[in-house]
Formats: sequence, structure tokens, C-alpha cells
Amino acid sequence: MEEMSDPRLGTVRLFLKHDDNKARKLKYNLGPARVLSFGGAYSGHLRALARAGMERGFETIGVVRGEEHLPLNPSLAYARACGMRLVYLDRAAYRLKHTPEVLERLRARFGDVTILPEGGSNAAAVRGCAELPGEIGLDYDVICCPVGTGGTLAGISAGLAPGRRALGFAVLKGAGFLREEVARLQREAYGRVMTNWELNLDYHFGGYAKPSPALDQAYEQVYVAKMIYGILDLAGRGAFAPNSRVVAVVTGQPSTPVASWGEPTGFDSAEPR
Ligand SMILES: *Cc1c(COP(=O)(O)O)cnc(C)c1O
Repeated sequence: MEEMSDPRLGTVRLFLKHDDNKARKLKYNLGPARVLSFGGAYSGHLRALARAGMERGFETIGVVRGEEHLPLNPSLAYARACGMRLVYLDRAAYRLKHTPEVLERLRARFGDVTILPEGGSNAAAVRGCAELPGEIGLDYDVICCPVGTGGTLAGISAGLAPGRRALGFAVLKGAGFLREEVARLQREAYGRVMTNWELNLDYHFGGYAKPSPALDQAYEQVYVAKMIYGILDLAGRGAFAPNSRVVAVVTGQPSTPVASWGEPTGFDSAEPR
């Protein structure tokens, strides 16, 4: 794990833990022969699902928000190359994607299929992410992660040793509803809500995938750079106790997204995404 230095940290020490949270969220969701899920045209969740389907030999169906645009963008082209079947829902229908009506229609069309929610966040995903804290081989007080749908934060919090805290940074604007969502996911996975986590709403920079010149270009911009900015800013304001040790979970792939997707390597690959 690398340690980051920055004048705003003062006596706080910040360590970066790289982690592919999308693969973790799928770990306990795999097994069925045909899995369908939802995402935008750049969905990392759909890429991770397509990749898992290719590697383990199950069918995947990606329901994409909006119209089909050809040629496919690199994200969808990657999913397609992994064998994912892509279908499209216009924005109005997509908003209703988790309603019984739309789910029924998808089941009628695709038969015996397991449906995962957008972003892959469900109880099994939470249990997958709960394994993350135990893999960190150093002593720390606070663990931070970016928050999209809340599954990663719900799991990290659930997997923490006593005395440690989890701090999530929402990348969506107006994401207060995610507090109830994280609680719901923990209730679903464990039957209770943990009290060791918080969700910070102050560093969304205008909302999901909104670019900002304030963000450090060295980090993935949709999620990770916002969290890094938030941690450093909070540290500069004295929000962490002196000498505390903070771990930042650098989610996704270490290099730039497109380059890191790589070429699908076939059904025998054991490499996680
Ligand atoms: C999906 C994603 C997240 C957010 O995870 P949630 O469980 O949806 O909150 C964070 N970082 C990266 C890079 C992601 O792809």
C-alpha cells in the first residue's frame, strides 16, 4: 500500500488501498446460468459482469439506459466482446427498471434469468465488500471510499473491526437518500444497521461524472478524485484526530479506465477484471 503525502494532512497519515470493488460485489452473486443487470453506457458494473460471465461461462445480458449508438463506445464494446448481450431501454422506461412491470417484461423476454440491480448493489454484494477491510495489513482508524449506489460503503462498514470507522464520499448531487439506502442494504445483508459509518455529501462537484478542474487528474475522475479531494480538504480543516491513520480505498482499476479494460482474453482467463 502506498502512503500519500500532502501538506493538508498535517499529522494525519493517508494510505491508498487499490481495490476492484465491482468484482467484489459480484463474487457472491455468481452461480446462475444467466444474469441480467442494468447500467449506463459507461457502466463499470456491466463491464465487470460481462467479464465474469466470460471467465466463468455464464450468459450475461446488459440493459443499457438510452438508445443504441453505433459504433459502440469502448465500455460497451468491451462488454459485447466479453459476450454480453446488450439491450436498450429508453430513459423513461429505464427510470422504471426496478418496478415489477418492467422486471416482468424482462423475465418474459429472457426466461429464467437472475436480475441484479443497477450498480450491482444487493445483500450479496455487501457481503462481498465486507471482506475488504480484513485484507488491509496495517493499523488504521478510518477507512474511506467513494459512494455511487452505497453497496461498497455498506459492506466495508460491516467488515470493520471494532473501533474503526468508515467514511463514504457521495459522488452524486443530492445523495442524502443514500443514507437510507446504505442502511437498507445492511439490514438486508445482516438484519441490522451498523453505526460505524458516515456519508459525506459535500464533494460531489456538481454531480455524477461532472468534470472539475479542482480534481487531481492523477486519479479516476468519476469517483476516486472526489474522495481524495474530500479527504485532503477535511484533513486541512482538522476533521480527523491528530496522528490518525486513514485508508482511502482507490476503487476500480489503477490506470486510466479505457486502457485498463484491456482485451477480453477468453474463457480460460483467471484474471479478475
Ligand atoms: C461503482 C464504483 C464505485 C461506487 O460503488 P457503490 O458500491 O456503487 O457505491 C466507486 N468507485 C468506482 C471506481 C466504481 O466503479
